[in-house]
Formats: sequence, C-alpha cells, structure tokens
Amino acid sequence: MKYDLIIIGGGPAGLTAAMYASRYKLKTLLITKIPGGIATTAHKICNFPTYEDISGFDLMKKMEEHVKKLNAEMIYDEVIKISNKFKVKTAKGKTFEAKKMILAAGTERKKLNIPREMELLGRGISYCGTCDGPLFRNKNVAVAGGGNGAVTTALLLADYADTVYLIYRGDKFRADPVWLSQLKGKKKIKQIFREDIAKLEGEKFLEAIELKSGKKLKVDGLFIEVGAIPDQRLISQLKIKTDSKGYIIADKQQRTNINGIYAAGDITNNSLKQIITACGEGATAANSAYQDLNK
Ligand SMILES: Cc1cc2nc3c(=O)[nH]c(=O)nc-3n(C[C@H](O)[C@H](O)[C@H](O)COP(=O)(O)OP(=O)(O)OC[C@H]3O[C@@H](n4cnc5c(N)ncnc54)[C@H](O)[C@@H]3O)c2cc1C
Repeated sequence: MKYDLIIIGGGPAGLTAAMYASRYKLKTLLITKIPGGIATTAHKICNFPTYEDISGFDLMKKMEEHVKKLNAEMIYDEVIKISNKFKVKTAKGKTFEAKKMILAAGTERKKLNIPREMELLGRGISYCGTCDGPLFRNKNVAVAGGGNGAVTTALLLADYADTVYLIYRGDKFRADPVWLSQLKGKKKIKQIFREDIAKLEGEKFLEAIELKSGKKLKVDGLFIEVGAIPDQRLISQLKIKTDSKGYIIADKQQRTNINGIYAAGDITNNSLKQIITACGEGATAANSAYQDLNK
C-alpha cells in the first residue's frame, strides 16, 4: 500500500508534521526509533508556550497523545534504508512506500572519542543526565561541555551529587543567560575551563578522569554533553544537499533539493535547534507536502 506521506522521526518536528498531515487527511505513516525524540531527556522545559515548567518526557507524551487522537498511523521501528521515490526499509524487516517524505530524524549525541568511552558506557559514562542522574546520589561526577545541554545537566546533577565538575575546553560557557545565572552560587558545581578529558580510569566502572593538563579527578560518573550531529548513515543514502557539518539544507517551505523530500527540525541547517522551531518546521513541511500533492 502506498502512503501519501512517510515521516521519519517522532520528535517534536515529526509529531507536529503528523498532526498537520492527519488534519489535511493525508494517508500518513510516522516511523520512529524513540517515541518523543531527544526532548524526552530534557529535565525541564521552560520555554515552550503553554507550559511554564514541564519535564521533556511529559511534554512529549502530551504531543504524542495528541497525534494518536488524530488517528495518524505510528510505528516504533528504525528506518535503515531509504531510496528516492520513496521506499523505506526498517530494522524489523518491513518496507513502505510513499509519494512524499519528511525527514525529521533529529541528531545523535557527539562522542568525546577517547579510549574506553564505549566500554564504560552505562558503567559511569552517560549521555543523559535526566535518565541517569539519580544513580549518582552523594557521589562525585563530571560533565563535559559548555552549552545548554552541559550547563542544565550540571544543574540537575547538583540536586543529587556531592560535587559536579563542569569541564569545558573554551574560556566561557555558551549556554543561555537564564541557565548561567542559575550556576551562580551553586557551590557544588566546580567550573573548569580550557581543559579536555584525556583518559578514563577504572576497572569495571569509572573511578577517575584525567585531564589534558595531567590533573586527575576522582569521579563515579561522567556525563558527556558536547553537542549533536545528524546521523549520516541515513542521509548519505540520498543525494540530498547538506552543509559542511552534515545538516540538511532546507528552504523556508522545508523543501530540500530532492523533489518530494522535506526536512524539519534539528536535522536541518536551521539556526535555532529547539522544540518550538522543530514544531514550526514540521508544520510547514506537512503543509508543503500537502500543497505539492494537490498540484
Ligand atoms: C538535554 C536536552 C535539553 C533540551 N532542552 C530544551 C529546552 O529546554 N527547550 C527546547 O526548546 N529545546 C530543548 N532541547 C532541544 C530539543 O530537544 C530539540 O531541539 C528537539 O527535540 C528537536 O526535535 P526533532 O523532532 O527535530 O528531533 P528529535 O527530538 O531528535 O527527534 C528525532 C526522532 O527521530 C528518530 N529517529 C532517528 N533516526 C531514525 C531512523 N533511522 N528511523 C526512525 N526514527 C529515527 C529518533 O528516535 C527521534 O525520536 C533540549 C535537548 C536536550 C538534549
């Protein structure tokens, strides 16, 4: 059976696209690896209109419930193959075809790429403060990074851990002023600038980290928050134009260089990677697909 529209990704961009497409009565299928996307890992969302303060998990659950009420078809699976004109194959062995496609697959966390990072994942190393923070009650932990992700993770961890080392290779954190002001007076958070993490130590579990300067810090946990990039395994299967960092180039209607493929959210080269912009782009992408189907 051929769908009007397949949406890959069930974060804010994909869910909003599905919402609009359902209301346009397009025969739509949304395929997503993780329900709700990366925003589900956010401890607090305080900048999405209608909620002053809501957890990322709760916000995304509400968004998904809204889509389900509109009877959009949604499956939890991973797209592993895409071809032009527009067939997808999933990890569970299913194939689907559509007249149009929206890429809303977001980004993947960047790694530090230091020895033993993968070996100690889940044994002290984490990429999600909200998920794993409570495991480090009364322990010492470190956070690598200097943007919103790193600073908000450090603030969250200070609720549990005894000491939080916030380690950044730059001179000044890049996080929003509202988060930086919350760092002030947080005695548990020790800020370390112009440093990189060079080595991870510990037999079965992380026990210490060594910085490039040679300084050693005894920690039980290291939270890596050094940014994200789109998954090139999917994108590279299409002759789709990306910028030098690998983000898909989309116009103001979210059209890409491939006729019938649209992109929305963090996977694009937009300048503000947030929930509100992902939702807006998802809505625009669904509208463009609808307009193009009716030409
Ligand atoms: C810790 C943290 C805190 C944040 N805090 C805020 C905040 O306070 N306010 C704010 O506005 N934004 C915040 N953000 C940013 C916000 O979460 C993102 O901008 C937003 O989620 C982007 O939405 P998206 O739909 O483009 O991508 P994502 O949310 O990343 O969703 C992409 C989806 O695609 C799926 N997918 C990927 N590849 C495939 C595949 N091959 N097949 C099927 N599915 C696939 C993924 O599983 C995922 O569900 C935060 C992010 C993080 C990490």
